[in-house]
Parts: sequence; structure tokens; C-alpha cells
Amino acid sequence: MKKYYDLVEKNKQLVLDAEKYIWENPEPGYKEFKTNAYMLEQFEKLGYTDIVKAENCTGFYTVLDTGRVGPTVLIMAELDSLINTTHPACDKETGAVHSCGHHAQCAAMLGLAAALKEEGAIDNLCGKIKLCLVPAEEGIEIGYRKGLIQKGIIEFTSGKPEFIARRYFDDIDIAFMLHSTSNKNEKLNFILTRGHNGVIRKRTIVKGKSAHAGGRPHEGINALNAASLIMMAINSLRETFKEEYYARVHSIITKGGDAVNAVPDEVIIESYVRAAEPIAHKMVNDSVNRAISAAAAAIGCTVLIEDMAGSEALNEDANLREVALEVFEEIAGKEGYQYDSEWLASSTDMGDISSLVPAIHMYSTGAVGTSHGIDMFIKDPYKCCVNGAKAELGVLVKLLENNAQRAKDIIAKFKPTFNSVDEYLAHKRSINMEKDTVIMNEDGTITLDYKG
Ligand SMILES: [Zn+2]
Repeated sequence: MKKYYDLVEKNKQLVLDAEKYIWENPEPGYKEFKTNAYMLEQFEKLGYTDIVKAENCTGFYTVLDTGRVGPTVLIMAELDSLINTTHPACDKETGAVHSCGHHAQCAAMLGLAAALKEEGAIDNLCGKIKLCLVPAEEGIEIGYRKGLIQKGIIEFTSGKPEFIARRYFDDIDIAFMLHSTSNKNEKLNFILTRGHNGVIRKRTIVKGKSAHAGGRPHEGINALNAASLIMMAINSLRETFKEEYYARVHSIITKGGDAVNAVPDEVIIESYVRAAEPIAHKMVNDSVNRAISAAAAAIGCTVLIEDMAGSEALNEDANLREVALEVFEEIAGKEGYQYDSEWLASSTDMGDISSLVPAIHMYSTGAVGTSHGIDMFIKDPYKCCVNGAKAELGVLVKLLENNAQRAKDIIAKFKPTFNSVDEYLAHKRSINMEKDTVIMNEDGTITLDYKG
């Protein structure tokens, strides 16, 4: 395998330059215009002429055909940054910063793309290699994305479901990606986990009635007090979430009122509802929506609940994981990698891919600080991105060499969550909801209509 890893090594400067450029030009999801243009330019320079650009939004893909029949392997890198306005390296205007390290994924992807164009790189492989730059993994700026949905530009708040819905991935048989991470154990270079929670994104608009907050509060209906009760109601549900759900419900208030001397008549809450599998997820989400509706009604408010399908749970494919662990050992030695069997309660839209084809979400270390925190940066880009690219190439080679026997075995053993893209899309669309859930009837009764 060394000859393959050397092909990446040969292109390491390209990888390191990309890590630096994209770190310095962070852009949040569906706004990754500079990053997208930069990656496009680099791909074109490498000789990728057949590039399909996502219509109307950021992201693109290209397919490298070995010319021999075999499965199609999808490898992705995420273009988007987070927003942390207090991160020292954030964009001073937008607050954007790569505090989840997605810039490192793009850099590694370039190393892979460059290595695949080296002489002899794909001579022993069969099948097709689909390289894709995807937008918007981080589920932030929900209001902005809701606007894109209303304009018909996108259907989903996350890039991978969006690309699945656009049928960009109809031909894929197996998939993987690489994400940067930090770890206190300096010897570690690679980590794999068992999987991640799914997520439903929620925007709740609590509607009350404004009035003078000092002089005539009795004439108002306080939407902030209702929001406060909503938080309490959700908190009171937590003991009902079974451990195996891995449920997480967390919120922020993005609008708390207009003026301190007026009773707030509109408060906006953004929430995530996360859980480990679709049925539990629906149960938890329904109970959260009931709590929101009933707590609002208690104060005399109405609410508009907007549920948006986020990510499905990521179930790492155990057989594909075995391939990656072999590659990790080749690159980093016995002590250089770790399989962590813990289930992570965080979410990624790689889960959507894993609900359709065998998939893994590999981690490469070299970052320091807390993921999504104000101290996160890539301290060792060689370890993170150059070795990351080697890992991607190594897994790809092992899957597609020897007539793609390993890929074929993994695909044959795989049991998808959804049997088709259509079934998957029907499920995603069933989560989307936009509803006034508290109905004040003329006879004085209140109806709560909170189920999607
Ligand atoms: Zn991330």
C-alpha cells in the first residue's frame, strides 16, 4: 500500500495550502461561495474536466471511471463553517469560523483527488469513484435556510439530504468521509465510532399580544413568559426519554422581544430534537411539540411550530469499518488509531447516506480545543489532512482492488434503513411540518393540534 500513500505524500503542499486558505475564508452552509470556487479551481487544475456543479447552490461532484465494471464509491468533504462570534479566528463581519474543522476535510479531499490523477493510481481498481463537495452540514441559521426553502432553492436544510433529493447520489453503492477531531492522546491519528444520533430541527414562533409592560401588562399576553414555560415543560419531559433513545433536546431563543418596556408579543425559539432511531425520534418530537403547545396555551399564546427534517442517525457499517481500521494501522501503527464503541448523541447528515448504503464517518486527529468551541483549530495539518487523505485513498484502494471483492462483500451484507431513495424521501418529507398548533375556539375551548 505504500506506493499509494506516497502518491498523497507527493501532493502534500497542495493539501497544506488548501487547509490554510479555507481556514482563512470560512463560510457557513449554503453560502460557501469562495470555498466552492476555490475547490472547483483546484479540481480543474488537477485535470478533472467532467464536473457537475449543483444547480442554484454550492457544491459539486465529479466521477472518475476506472473503465472496469464495479461498484461506485462516494467520498465526500463538507464545505461549510460554523459561526462563533467570539472565536479569535472568526470572520469579523460574519462570525464564521471552521470550529468544526470542515476545511480540513476539503484539504484532505484535494490530496485524494491529486493522488488519483497520478500515473498508475487507478490501474488496479475497478468501478467508479465519485468525489463530492457537499454544502451545509452544520444545521445553523435555520431562518436563512427556511427562506431558501420558501424560494424553492433547496428542499432540505442540510446538504446531503438535499443532494440525495436532487438525485445526485442515485448511483452510489458505498460511501465514506473523513472529519477532523481533537484528542488528548497525541499518539492517535484516527478514530472511528459506532454512530451518531439523528436530528429534527425546530423553529417555534410564540405569539402573544403587546402592551405597556409597566402600565398595562394585564392587556398583553407575554410570549416570553410562555417561552419560559415551554422550556420548563420540555425539561419536565426528560425523565420519560428512555436511555436507549439517546434523546437530546436543546434550544436557543433567537428573538426574545422588541423593547424592554413592552410586553413581548413574539418570541422565536430554535431547537434540536435528537435521538438514535426514527421511531423513538418521532415519539420524542411529538411529546416536545405537545409540551410546547400546552405551555403556550397555558399563558394564552398561540404557536407556529416549524419542524424541518435534519439528519438521520448515522449507523457506521461494521464491515466497512474493518477496512478502515486496517488502513489506519498501515498509516499510523498499532497505537495510532482507536475504535470507540460509544454512541455519540451529536448528529451529522452523513447519517442520511448511511441509511441508504454502507457508510463510515472516519475521524482524523490533529485539531486542538473543543469541537464547535472558541479554542478549536488544526494544530497539525499534516497529521490531520495529509494522513487523512492517505486514509481515504487506502480505504478506496482496498474496496476497489481485486475486482472490488471487499466492496461487493460489504454491499451484499448491508441492510439499509430505507429500501430506496423514494422511501427515504417519503420519510424525510413526513417530518416536515408547519402548523399553528394552538387553536383558540370561539366557545372558549382550546384545541392542541401538534402532530405532523
Ligand atoms: Zn463537523
